[in-house]
Order: sequence, then structure tokens, then C-alpha cells
Amino acid sequence: MTKILIISDIHANFTALQAVLDDAGAVDAVWNLGDLVGYGPDPNECIELIRTLPNLTCVLGNHDAAVLRRIDTGTFNREAGISANWTQRHLSPRGLQYLESLPEKLILEEKVTIAHGSPRNPVWEYLLDVFSAAINFKYFNTPICTVGHTHLPLAYLLDGDGAVRIKQFESGEEMKIDGRTILNPGSVGQPRDHDPRAAYAIYCPEESTWECHRVEYLVSEVQQRILDAGLPIHHAERLAQGW
Ligand code: ZN
Repeated sequence: MTKILIISDIHANFTALQAVLDDAGAVDAVWNLGDLVGYGPDPNECIELIRTLPNLTCVLGNHDAAVLRRIDTGTFNREAGISANWTQRHLSPRGLQYLESLPEKLILEEKVTIAHGSPRNPVWEYLLDVFSAAINFKYFNTPICTVGHTHLPLAYLLDGDGAVRIKQFESGEEMKIDGRTILNPGSVGQPRDHDPRAAYAIYCPEESTWECHRVEYLVSEVQQRILDAGLPIHHAERLAQGW
């Protein structure tokens, strides 16, 4: 049985990434849905660790694009812009080269579409409600689409009559994927559902199951590194509350 680890929005939080990899254990493949960097203090460490993972598939996020100067950091809020500029100064040439190699959208074996934001606008659009999700079902042809970007673990389910339902997940909850679905594993490095634990999902294609998980990590260690790096204190504070 194939076990695929789905992660997103690591945001240069090495401690959270390591906790997720330890908790997930052995997997056959890893899909990372973008925003490897931005906000957090460990961009190079996260990229180096990600590159060691088996059968890695990775797409570009808006924070990755900002570091590559493909998006003007002036379009970010002030503190996100400060983090993006800090990352531009601290990213290694190897890390930069890796981000440059990432595609915006991928279709795997005609079964799964992978994007950071949405299938319609892969780098920028937020799927925050059933209305934006309903439009986006027209922008991919595979049964499943995985996205990140909102930092919220949830699924949008397309019913036979064309209506879209939203489903939220508890830690450890497993869902049988039935029909066309947009799935979000939540964020590894900066959860925003008021649960500070790092989020990830396990997808099993043969069984067509999606399992959501949360894992605690030492938030205080990351907060200290954010402060030591001179990054905005706001990005340290929010990690403890998960928003
Ligand atoms: Zn993000």
C-alpha cells in the first residue's frame, strides 16, 4: 500500500518540519504544496532537508515566488514583506536554485492536480469558501486536487448535483475520498486554525484515503530563532496560538 506524505506551508520552520517527518514515519513519496520559505528563521535548513525526502514532488508558493522576485514584496503585508526581504538576503545559492526549479502546477499521472493556492491561479488564489472552491472545480480535470496556502486543513467535496461542501478535520481523522475533491493538509510551519500543532496529511491512492494529523513541536525554540534572526516578533507570537 502506497503511503504519500502531503505537506504544505513549511515557512522555514525546521523544528516543525522535523516533528512532522518523525511523526509520519516511513513513506513512499512526499508532496510539498509550496511556501517552503517566508516568515520562519530556517530557509536553508528546510530546503536541504526537503531535498533528502523520497520521491519528492514540490510546487512553488507565493512566498517562494516573492523570494525569487517574481512577486513584488510590496504586495505583502508589511511584516511578511520584511520576512521575504530577510529570506532573500539569507538564502544560499543552492536554496535559491532549488526554488527557481519549482513548477507552479503539476498533474500527476492524470489523477491528481497539485498547486499551492488553487488550480485556477496556482500561486495566488485562496480557497477560503465553497464559492471559490466551486469555481475552481472547473479548472482541473483530475479526480483530486491538493492545495495549501490558507494554512487550514480541510476538504471541498463536489456532490453529484454540483453543490460543494466543506469538511474540516480533527487530528487522526481519516476520510474516504469519494467523488471529486479539493484537499488541503494544513500548514506545517504556521497553522492558522488556532491549533498550534504542525499539520500534515497521509494520502493512500490505492485505498483512496486521506488522513489528517497534528503533531506538537517545540514552538519556543523556533520563537527564539525568529527573535535572534531579527525577524518580526509578530511571527514568533502567532506560532504559540496557531493563527
Ligand atoms: Zn503560506
